[in-house]
Amino acid sequence: MELLTETFDQIPRITLGTLPTPLHTMPNLAKKLGVGPIYMKRDDMTGVGPGGNKVRSLEFILGEVVAQQYDVVLVAGPIQSNLCTLTAACCAKLGLRCILVHNGNEPEHKVGNQMLNQLMGCEVHYVNSTLEKDRTHYIEQLFHTLTGEGKHPYIVKNGASTGVGALGYVQAAVELLAQCKEQSLELKTIFIPGGNGGVAAGLVYGNAMLGSPFQIKVISVEYSRDILIEKMQYIANEIGYLLKMPLAKPIVALCEIDDRYSGGGWGKDTAESRAWVARLPNIEGIFIENVYNSKVLVGMIDYLKKSKSTGGSCYLHTGGFGSLFSQY
Ligand SMILES: *Cc1c(COP(=O)(O)O)cnc(C)c1O
Repeated sequence: MELLTETFDQIPRITLGTLPTPLHTMPNLAKKLGVGPIYMKRDDMTGVGPGGNKVRSLEFILGEVVAQQYDVVLVAGPIQSNLCTLTAACCAKLGLRCILVHNGNEPEHKVGNQMLNQLMGCEVHYVNSTLEKDRTHYIEQLFHTLTGEGKHPYIVKNGASTGVGALGYVQAAVELLAQCKEQSLELKTIFIPGGNGGVAAGLVYGNAMLGSPFQIKVISVEYSRDILIEKMQYIANEIGYLLKMPLAKPIVALCEIDDRYSGGGWGKDTAESRAWVARLPNIEGIFIENVYNSKVLVGMIDYLKKSKSTGGSCYLHTGGFGSLFSQY
């Protein structure tokens, strides 16, 4: 890791989040399940907008924007995209112009992240199509228009799940290990979400560079195991290139990836995940949303019940609080 630090420090980064995020126990949940200590890493509390994992990624993505003097940031996602809202909030903090592009139609009544975007006074474009390729085409057009106006636009790629964005989670692995040492905690297993695989690839990479102090279980919320592995490997290769140090082993050899809790895919919940959205705040006073975090919680609980694990487990809360207000 020492070798890495030098390369890491040369990569542009801008401070946005309130890091480190808290790490604390969930005693009531552990008691209810009859298992050993369960910790929660609070990446829902990253300190900008409604909080969430994307702030860590944006420290590096917008770090590049500032270093290269781009003057407009274009970011795309579905109507309730956490990335769009957090990019807008971080750009506001940096005094950067930001344009949001959503597939879908403009909702009449704005709820959840849409409401937050409205409060921030965001520039929002609706593509009026749910097709990914229409949105991509729209952004390319917008990019050319802005360039024609003499602007220097930057496009946030692949939902921020890129090598650059994942650097935030390489750093998060370092942060978590330091917190464990400080608090004299023995965390064995970390449960994390796998969407496009940026969070997962970053943490797995960071963990490997630290000598694998943690076991990582990735719960897919969208794709099949094979596709998620492919996505994570691709991002891990990008990180290896950026940090000039490829992983010695393939991604599959460095973590467990499970797609049994993803329900019908992104945004399509299961009866159990739906139930835990209401149960966790009732037990611990902590809210989770229903696209990412509830599925990871269901996966973790299932593992803990089956393994009767007594070692320390850690649940990574990745935020998405804004979207919760559109889900019920
Ligand atoms: C984007 C997001 C994730 C997952 O990110 P990937 O890096 O694409 O796997 C998890 N949780 C929340 C709340 C998110 O917004």
